[in-house]
Amino acid sequence: MSAPRKGPGLTAELKEQLIRQVMERRLQRAAPVAEAAVPEAYWRFSLHPGFRRLSVLREGGDLLGIANPYFRSHEGVAGALTRIDGRDYVNFSSYNYLGLCGDPAVNAAAKAAIDRFGTSVSASRLAAGERPLHGELERALAEAYGVEDCVAFVSGHATNVSTIGCLFGPKDLVLHDALAHNSVLQGAELSGAQRRAFPHNDWGVLDEILERERRNFERVLIVLEGLYSMDGDFPDLPRFVELKRRHRAFLMVDEAHSFGTMGRSGLGIREHFGLEGADVDIWMGTLSKSLAGCGGFIAGERALTDNLRFAAPGFVYSVGMAPPLAAASLAAFERMRAEPGRVLALQARAAQFLHLAREAGVDVGPSSGIAIVPAITGSSIGAARLSQALFRRGINVQPILYPAVPENGARLRFFLSSLHSEEQVRNAVAVLAEEIEAL
Ligand code: PMP
Repeated sequence: MSAPRKGPGLTAELKEQLIRQVMERRLQRAAPVAEAAVPEAYWRFSLHPGFRRLSVLREGGDLLGIANPYFRSHEGVAGALTRIDGRDYVNFSSYNYLGLCGDPAVNAAAKAAIDRFGTSVSASRLAAGERPLHGELERALAEAYGVEDCVAFVSGHATNVSTIGCLFGPKDLVLHDALAHNSVLQGAELSGAQRRAFPHNDWGVLDEILERERRNFERVLIVLEGLYSMDGDFPDLPRFVELKRRHRAFLMVDEAHSFGTMGRSGLGIREHFGLEGADVDIWMGTLSKSLAGCGGFIAGERALTDNLRFAAPGFVYSVGMAPPLAAASLAAFERMRAEPGRVLALQARAAQFLHLAREAGVDVGPSSGIAIVPAITGSSIGAARLSQALFRRGINVQPILYPAVPENGARLRFFLSSLHSEEQVRNAVAVLAEEIEAL
């Protein structure tokens, strides 16, 4: 039935009713169209490609009877030994290289810092002020490198991302070793600079790239690691220093795995080669490994660290290091300096591991026998099975699978600690060789 009309046009009431009806009809029509236009995969995490990949891997592992080797819960300090699910294991899966995580003096320093400063500094150091521990740790590290200054961040990963991301831009070029850590790649992405990898440790190819490309860019950054955690080898640093000087580039060395492990007293690749602090523009390190804490640092000239203190987003807009962590790393550093025997013990155990593994025919790649020795299986399934077999025999060691490495480079990675005994190393290599044979 049509509504009664008053005069020639529609009444205001009728107009409103009509508009409402039209709108409702439109909405009814629009709803199914919108649903059809946006595929489910774009609004459900269960269909996210990352989660689907993970599910396929899990199903594959289940089918092959391989237990998940990740996120195992350690029930105490993970040193040369660790307890998982109530059973003790000889542990090769932690970066507690100098055994300083869990050391009584380091624990005591962290506890004293909590008593004095609490557990958090709660805000950015720039905005809310710092604690004396921050400066003490930074001065100690700057001194270790023989450079003007050092600045500490709350995460090693964020240190690389923030530093590279903040110092370089779209007119610049970042050249990094093919095995560089994810944090270096992320930093380069963030910076907007062009990014290119050069073959692992190949300063000859890097020289050619610089010869060809240097003039096309403003700043050029070369990034290396002091000790590569996949292969356990290290770059010929003096060659890279010569290149960076000749081509007027910046050189950055990530010492995550080399500080505390290389050099006679653990001062890193600089000490190993007898270089000056100023030979490298950006020394980067982590506090989470040899230094028993959590965080990262950049050491170098003051013009670098000052700039980062006021501009690096991961420093400016993030909380300062927690007092117990800063205290733990400072105490760990002091312990390392006071007890160089720890560094020598680590180097001796790693050299022993490498020697015995080679003798037993294990493929250890190019490892130099400083802190890290891989056992390359050449297949992800092989590496996962080998890790599981060793776990059953009381040895905890992580597999590294595709895509973290190329499939034919799948491996187990053994991280040594100064706390390992000769006997533990001998036994681990013997079990490793037997299980490789049985694969
Ligand atoms: N750089 C390298 C070479 C690393 O291996 C790691 C972590 N393993 C990092 C940076 C990040 O350090 P963190 O784990 O302390 O954040």
